[in-house]
Amino acid sequence: MPVIIERLAIIGVGLIGGSFARALREAGAVKTVVGIGRSRSNLEEALSLGIVDEITQDAVAGVRGAQMVFISVPVCAIPDVLAEISPALTDGCIVTDGGSVKASLVSECERLMPTGCFFVGGHPIAGTEHSGAAASFATLYNGKRCILTPTKQTDAAALDVVTRLWQICGAEVCLMEPGHHDRIFAEISHLPHMVAYALVHAVGTADVEGENVLSYTAGGFRDFTRIASSDPVMWRDIALMNRHALLASIDGFSKSLLELRQHIHSSEPQELAEFFTIAKQFRDGIV
Ligand code: NAP
Repeated sequence: MPVIIERLAIIGVGLIGGSFARALREAGAVKTVVGIGRSRSNLEEALSLGIVDEITQDAVAGVRGAQMVFISVPVCAIPDVLAEISPALTDGCIVTDGGSVKASLVSECERLMPTGCFFVGGHPIAGTEHSGAAASFATLYNGKRCILTPTKQTDAAALDVVTRLWQICGAEVCLMEPGHHDRIFAEISHLPHMVAYALVHAVGTADVEGENVLSYTAGGFRDFTRIASSDPVMWRDIALMNRHALLASIDGFSKSLLELRQHIHSSEPQELAEFFTIAKQFRDGIV
């Protein structure tokens, strides 16, 4: 495969950034990868695992000469990082991201881009509950979707390059309007994480005659709550940045839970069976 990017800078060499670098390196699509982050230990781990060729905690120095910068830090930090590096970007540089929320982030990033450089918003629909460079792997994006969220301002050639790179990672690229993206992912990703966190919170603090009920967990509880082991800072940022769409999703869920509560409260066997049957049909349809 011909080299597409001579020098790629990854800001935040964690699960998402590290996996992007690994996949592109394995494919031979990038020549040199610079890892940028705050903590020395994670960067050194990324270097020793062969994810990156160079490391630095100085983001401004790290992006100099890069044709592409991939920002994969918690979403509220992405505009701050871009504001810091923006004056040091090389002419023609493409900046893209892997953040899970898009509308406000994309408009803020577009505003921060210097003339002659291009921003393309992205969100790979792949992940695990683990964090950091050591959690990354080259096949994370294989067979998964990656949503790109171009706007009227997006440069067509930059969008083509970012699309090509995600395809090399094995992803199927879909284009979506940023606000539409946020409303869809509020329902299908952000709400389930909030419910998992709230459920573990409620059960973890429940007092049943002084017993620690978590000591009785079995498969069902563990399957349902796996995602509550995800990074709290990442989810704090997602909840704050997508709060309008997420509040609407939480309201919809609360209505559903209240309906279920009502059927239980009123001992309505037929309504309960119907409620569960409809949910089972939806769930069976996706697996
Ligand atoms: P991660 O594994 O925790 O990696 C984030 C990296 O960013 C860490 O290595 C951290 O390293 C660095 N970092 C954190 N805050 C920073 C800051 N303010 N400035 C510079 N570096 C910073 O997280 P991730 O799962 O890769 O998530 C990264 C992004 O991808 C997030 O925006 C998230 O919304 C998005 N995303 C995540 C998933 C998922 O399932 N995990 C899926 C799709 C998209 P140091 O602490 O060493 O600085």
